[in-house]
Amino acid sequence: LPADFKRALPVLKEIEQAGYEAYFVGGSVRDHILGLPIHDVDIATSAYPEEIKEIFKHTVDTGIQHGTVTVLFGGSSYEITTFRTESGYQDYRRPDEVTFVRSLEDDLKRRDFTINALALDRNGEVIDKFDGLKDLNNHLIRAVGKAEERFNEDALRMMRAVRFQSQLNFRIEDKTAEAIKSNAHLLEKIAVERTREEFIKMMLGQAWQIGFSDFLRFKLCEFAPGMREHSTLLHKLIELKPVEFLDEDSVWVAIGFALKLSDHDLNKLLRVWKVSNKTRETSLATYEMLELFSNQNFDIWEIYNLGIDNFERAAKLCQLFSIKMEYDKISKSIEQIPIKSSHDLAITGNDLIKILNITPGPEIGKMLKNVEKAVVEENVCNNFDELKVYVLSNR
Ligand code: ATP
Ligand code: MG
Repeated sequence: LPADFKRALPVLKEIEQAGYEAYFVGGSVRDHILGLPIHDVDIATSAYPEEIKEIFKHTVDTGIQHGTVTVLFGGSSYEITTFRTESGYQDYRRPDEVTFVRSLEDDLKRRDFTINALALDRNGEVIDKFDGLKDLNNHLIRAVGKAEERFNEDALRMMRAVRFQSQLNFRIEDKTAEAIKSNAHLLEKIAVERTREEFIKMMLGQAWQIGFSDFLRFKLCEFAPGMREHSTLLHKLIELKPVEFLDEDSVWVAIGFALKLSDHDLNKLLRVWKVSNKTRETSLATYEMLELFSNQNFDIWEIYNLGIDNFERAAKLCQLFSIKMEYDKISKSIEQIPIKSSHDLAITGNDLIKILNITPGPEIGKMLKNVEKAVVEENVCNNFDELKVYVLSNR
């Protein structure tokens, strides 16, 4: 067993000693079998939340109504979730009712895909009730049970299918794929935030072009936020160089660029997807920078104003869109910029007022901007005396 599981073994033992069952479940089991690095170790148990809280000293009620208690143990925290079944799903997204059960198999049955429905006991033995191991071997994403029903219960699972396809470079099994095609419209019922999370995980996956092309082929794009009118042009992304995205921001910039959106329309799309303000701002700035580069404009002052922190992202996107640029040369010039922002200038507005003996007003700001530009373009050094001379001779 990998170290992350080993460290968690005492947690399983404690639960078993109290007379219950406990297993590792979910993504960590899947990734472990695939030989991939594992993230969070999730534990499923026959013990009810109250029973878990009796076993462990330090617990947090993170999602107790769904049966999840976080246990702090040996310096790590573990999500321990009671075996449960779900029923209802009146609104295609959330179960009306969660019922705690004592059987592992019932718990595994409610999980989305066979590769996610594996459990691992504390001896390293895999419990495989739905042929998940076979599907892992064959690189297949297959719904547990009847795909049609499973997507009707929770339409987000369709996005999860293309997400895992992209992350793992797996194929979606035929019946599962058919069911996505005929139920894509249900995606409209899903909260934007949940769809976005899976969409971004898909785009950041190694085989994003495969996941994304099925996102289009299954017509999920028609029912994803603000994408219906763009579904034809979105195909352009599939034909681009296979370059991985650095981050969420890059994904939005690439979409904007492929669709040739105006800044205004990209902003609108980002708002529809309820992207965070920070991501929206960096995406819009990076988008402008990419537009500069695509016009073969590498003006250092413009790059500086759009944010030198966005340069790496814009440069990577140039690869994707086969935009020629002299990366080494530009990044060297960027490294040489002596200041990060106007705050780093060795002269202030108050200094200007004194030196030039003028009254405060908007022209101070303009002068400071000129000084900043001169420093960025290395026409003058960023030290007080030189800046003073510069200001006096350029008044
Ligand atoms: P990751 O490595 O990205 O965390 P994961 O498989 O662990 O992937 P999670 O979203 O963390 O994905 O969910 C943990 C497990 O819970 C899944 O492996 C799956 O068994 C189950 N699960 C999660 N979301 C759903 C869903 N919408 N429907 C059914 N089962 C789900
Ligand atoms: Mg997980």
